[in-house]
Amino acid sequence: MIVKNLSNSFNPVPKNKRIVNKKLLKDKKKICKICGRYGQTEKHHIKTKGSGGDDVEENLIEVCRMCHRKIHDEIISKEDILKIKNRRK
Ligand SMILES: [Zn+2]
Ligand SMILES: [Zn+2]
Repeated sequence: MIVKNLSNSFNPVPKNKRIVNKKLLKDKKKICKICGRYGQTEKHHIKTKGSGGDDVEENLIEVCRMCHRKIHDEIISKEDILKIKNRRK
């Protein structure tokens, strides 16, 4: 009885977070721009925010988790990313 009352009085998940999760579910399947695999993607900032990169389409690339890691491990160079970006246009 006490437990039920507690769970009613404070919700562990904030309202706005629930909306974000819903959005993620809706478009979680996308194509990785680097390896072309269909799956969950993440947005990578080609130019980091620290070096003046903006949250704009030209500065973002959608990549899968594995490729994203390779980018940050510098297995995939910035030049490679830019080449892929330019190929699309
Ligand atoms: Zn990939
Ligand atoms: Zn990144």
